[in-house]
Amino acid sequence: MILFSSIIQQFERDFLAEYADRILPAHRKALKTMKICRTQHSPRMLASCSQCEHHTYVPHSCGHRNCPHCQAHESQQWLERQLKKQVPADYFLVTFTVLLGYAKDLF
Ligand SMILES: [Zn+2]
Repeated sequence: MILFSSIIQQFERDFLAEYADRILPAHRKALKTMKICRTQHSPRMLASCSQCEHHTYVPHSCGHRNCPHCQAHESQQWLERQLKKQVPADYFLVTFTVLLGYAKDLF
C-alpha cells in the first residue's frame, strides 16, 4: 500500500517550488500534518494484546479531514449510506466543483 505521506515526502519539494507563494497557511499545515501520518515521525501509542503479553507501538494517524489515508473509513461509510439510497433504476452519481471566482465570469 502506498501511503499518502510517502507521496508528500516525494513531491513536496517540487510542489512548494512551484506553488509556495500561492498556497494558504492552512494548506501548509495540512501538508505538514499528513506528511507524518502513520510514519515513524508521528506520535505513537502502545497497543497490547489482551490474550498474550505481546505489545507494540503503533504510529498515530493524523486525523486531518483531507487525509485520504485517515478518511478512507469515513469515505467507505459515506459510500455505503449512498448505496442504500439507490432507486431501482439505472443510476449515475456525478460530483463536480464550481469555482466561484471563475463562475462569476460565466454569468
Ligand atoms: Zn492521516
